[in-house]
Amino acid sequence: MLKVFEAQHHAEAHFLNGLLEASGIPAEVRGESLFTTVEGGSALSGMRPSVWILEDDQLEQAKVVIANYTTGVGVPKFSEGPWTCPRCGEVHEAQFAACWNCGTQIPAPTEPPS
Ligand SMILES: [Zn+2]
Repeated sequence: MLKVFEAQHHAEAHFLNGLLEASGIPAEVRGESLFTTVEGGSALSGMRPSVWILEDDQLEQAKVVIANYTTGVGVPKFSEGPWTCPRCGEVHEAQFAACWNCGTQIPAPTEPPS
């Protein structure tokens, strides 16, 4: 078991856990029992939920998933790479959901060729 991520809150921990498992990396969230016993958000730092992988040899894969999550690349419902605005032709990184130039929403993601 290796800790790969320390989350800000439960939802983030579970979201990342889901991302890892969707990538074929068994993972689990730890630290929740401590967290839920503290009402009113007065949890001490260091008691935040953390995400652990079960197989140590998947650490490198897990790092990629986490890096993608923390940088906004590869997050579900976003396109995998740069996209071009269909209206003005401006090119944007994947984490931008709308064109900064003309406000056009990101086009629906296309499936990468397999
Ligand atoms: Zn545009």
